[in-house]
Amino acid sequence: TYVVTDNCIACKYTDCVEVCPVDCFYEGVNTLVIHPDECIDCGVCEPECPADAIRPDTEPDMDKWVEFNRKYSEQW
Ligand code: SF4
Repeated sequence: TYVVTDNCIACKYTDCVEVCPVDCFYEGVNTLVIHPDECIDCGVCEPECPADAIRPDTEPDMDKWVEFNRKYSEQW
């Protein structure tokens, strides 16, 4: 899965939401979040993010971001 990280805070762009083929972005508290079970790992959103906030969970220390994205995408 891809996850939204802290660079997203206060970012007003929604380029990522518009390109996601499965609409798995959700509104968090002060960031957007990606539902980790709905993301199909296509990677299309990553280069669209002007804040470089979207990272693959295969990078180091991403567990907390997976949980963060899960928590705030499941509240709806
Ligand atoms: Fe959506 Fe693809 Fe980004 Fe996952 S990697 S959030 S499916 S655009």
